[in-house]
Amino acid sequence: MKKQFKTESKRLMDLMINSIYTNKEIFLREIISNASDAIDKLHYKSLTDKSIKLNKEDFVIYVDINKEERTLRISDNGIGMSRDELENNLGTIAKSGSFDFKNNNEKKENIDIIGQFGVGFYSAFMVASNVKVISKTYGSSDAYVWESEGIDGYTINEYDKEEYGTDVILTIREGEEYDTYLEEYEIRRLIKKYSDYITYPIKMNVTKSRLKEDSKDEYEEYEEEEVINSLVPIWKRNKKDITDEEYNTFYSDKFFDYEAPLAHIHTLAEGTISYNSLIYIPSHASFDYYSKEYEKGLQLYSNGVLIMEKCADLVPDYFSFVKGVVDSPDLTLNISRETLQQNRVLKTIENAIEKKIKKELIDMQQNKEEDYLKFYKDFGMQLKVGIYNNYGMDKEKIQDLVMFYSSTKEKLVTLNDYCTRNKDYKNIYYACGETIDKINLLPQVESLKAKNKEILYCTDYVDEFVFKTLVKFDDKEFKNVCSDLSLDDESSKEIDKLNKKSKDMLDLIKEEINVSDVKFTNKLNSHHAVCLSNKGEVSIEMEKVMKEMPIDNNVEAEKILEINQSHPIAKKLQELYKKDKDSLKEYSKILYAQARLIEGLPIENPTEISNLICDLMAK
Ligand code: ADP
Repeated sequence: MKKQFKTESKRLMDLMINSIYTNKEIFLREIISNASDAIDKLHYKSLTDKSIKLNKEDFVIYVDINKEERTLRISDNGIGMSRDELENNLGTIAKSGSFDFKNNNEKKENIDIIGQFGVGFYSAFMVASNVKVISKTYGSSDAYVWESEGIDGYTINEYDKEEYGTDVILTIREGEEYDTYLEEYEIRRLIKKYSDYITYPIKMNVTKSRLKEDSKDEYEEYEEEEVINSLVPIWKRNKKDITDEEYNTFYSDKFFDYEAPLAHIHTLAEGTISYNSLIYIPSHASFDYYSKEYEKGLQLYSNGVLIMEKCADLVPDYFSFVKGVVDSPDLTLNISRETLQQNRVLKTIENAIEKKIKKELIDMQQNKEEDYLKFYKDFGMQLKVGIYNNYGMDKEKIQDLVMFYSSTKEKLVTLNDYCTRNKDYKNIYYACGETIDKINLLPQVESLKAKNKEILYCTDYVDEFVFKTLVKFDDKEFKNVCSDLSLDDESSKEIDKLNKKSKDMLDLIKEEINVSDVKFTNKLNSHHAVCLSNKGEVSIEMEKVMKEMPIDNNVEAEKILEINQSHPIAKKLQELYKKDKDSLKEYSKILYAQARLIEGLPIENPTEISNLICDLMAK
């Protein structure tokens, strides 16, 4: 008599069979991991029940291909299932409630969930038109066969089976796409890929060839049983026994990177949550690293069974460049089990891993400068973006890792270096521009350099956003040298006086040009007549960056035109204010245009300025 599946199971099965989900090959991983679980259970029982005389060596999983009959058989000598268990375990999803299928059938998110965790046994229907499960519980005399061709339902009947354990027999669907699951090399590949580290041997009869007896060139084929999986993965081995070469070979095989990594971090953690992890820091960014296509994540295993190719939850975005594996017995294979618990485990592991990565990078920065600079060249941008992302939520974790070019050291330095060297500074001075050379030419930079102040250079568009997000480091405030910055008290008092005295004139200039203030300054070297500075949050460099962005925005820096009080032009302006206000207005426009040019800003009205200059030249 045919029995019906529970509604949720039907939906899930429908999703599996008809889904656009392409990763069909995971079915083998699911079935093998069930087999391994069943063996675990009997193994455990044998350890606790003296009457069961079984050793770990007795347990095995067989995979068997029969091309003529188009079947693939996976057998285990685990705990087995009774009639009731076949009915309950295979007729319904383990915990239907936690998998919400209410208003979706083919929604992408659910497909992804299947891809990430698998839904166990039902995935067999992705590749099989008929599934038989023949099972006999340990110690029982009866065996049963459960059989189904999909959604229509299933039957359970008595069966003759000698040994305890379970055989899952899949009749592989017709079609080229499926033929591959009857090929020895493909099955071997899948076992290697997904189940290599299952702790029981996975055996398969493989075809080999050998020289015929008494023949020099005639070969014959023969079958031999082979253990396909390697049983103990590198991350579970003792660190002391692993050479750097082994670590690097594993890295290049697993992550397809031809260049050796800069570092590896191998951890065996035991505690409330146990896990093994092996994390690598690559030596260069992959070609797609800074593109949308790049997916961060670590390979996730549960007791040696691969459950996710890229588990994004295990690494924060700012460390998205790391590659590696995490294996924890505290994770379950199936999402139909407690997901919250799963998340808690992942979070704990993530936190631990993050700390390890940070420690490794700091160590590299301090002891292997060359390596760190190589790393920073490719991944520094990611760290900097990490500082200002999420409203600076993670800035404290990353700020020690970023580096900037220093005007005095003429190389990249850390913020720590800067602050240790300049204990007496109230601020961390920085300047922005497209290149180091261009920044060197900024009037404000020249004058600070003359005073032997160390300045950090921002040549990446993100740099200033980083400083704005950090606000302070080591109690020093970040100060753009192009902002409205007073240097020392003595001379600034004098300048204040001069500015007050000249207020009317400065106001007149201000009316002519589009700035929020005009004033005299003493911070420029004698050969510079003018410069632009800014007040408020938006710097001139930020204005430039924002203008380049495709979004429609009107972010503008509040600009101050600063006139060098010791330059002859200062006197000239004062003279003109007394006797020729029209000329003063024209001069103002030219000076402002010059200041904009020095800052790399476009001139608002080039024709007008050009004419003004020519008129002056002709005079
Ligand atoms: P899950 O393994 O996540 O529980 P599955 O759908 O893969 O979900 O399997 C459902 C249940 O069927 C398992 O929990 C297990 O009790 C039983 N089962 C599946 N395969 C076997 C097997 N080879 N031996 C014994 N029990 C099995």
